Amino acid sequence: MSDSPIAERNRVVRFHYLIRDESGNDVETSRDGEPALALLGHHNLMPGLESALLGRQAGEQFSVSLDPDKAFGQLRQGWTQRVSKKHFPKSTRFQPGARLRLNTDQGARTVTVTKVGNKFVDVDLNHPLAGQTVTFEVDVLEVRDATAEERSHGHAHGAGGHHH
Ligand code: ZN
Repeated sequence: MSDSPIAERNRVVRFHYLIRDESGNDVETSRDGEPALALLGHHNLMPGLESALLGRQAGEQFSVSLDPDKAFGQLRQGWTQRVSKKHFPKSTRFQPGARLRLNTDQGARTVTVTKVGNKFVDVDLNHPLAGQTVTFEVDVLEVRDATAEERSHGHAHGAGGHHH
């Protein structure tokens, strides 16, 4: 293990993770599917998670608690938006409290429905874990050098990563 590559900039890390919220509930995990894959040093990950991965090797397991600023951000009061229902898949069931994926200027994000109208829904743009100190439990499965193509694209390729 001591000879295996250390996680650093321009290396790709493949890992499983489990996220716990402030109350200790499991809220999200990769363990029931493909592991996550990330190219380090290219803003692929939230800063706190990336820092915690640096210097790790395959086979390591660790747990790290992250303040909102290093994880899902601070809770922004009143950060809502009225969105046409057309922006969601036809099969979507709109209910207050439902979490939906919405494509925004800053990429796809999870939003929470606050109010449902005939043609529009009001959504809260805060991530469901915004404002919380969250804990990541991470199993590092693999660390390898990024390919030249991955470095030029700024993301990892392969299972669990970006596909072309
Ligand atoms: Zn690519």
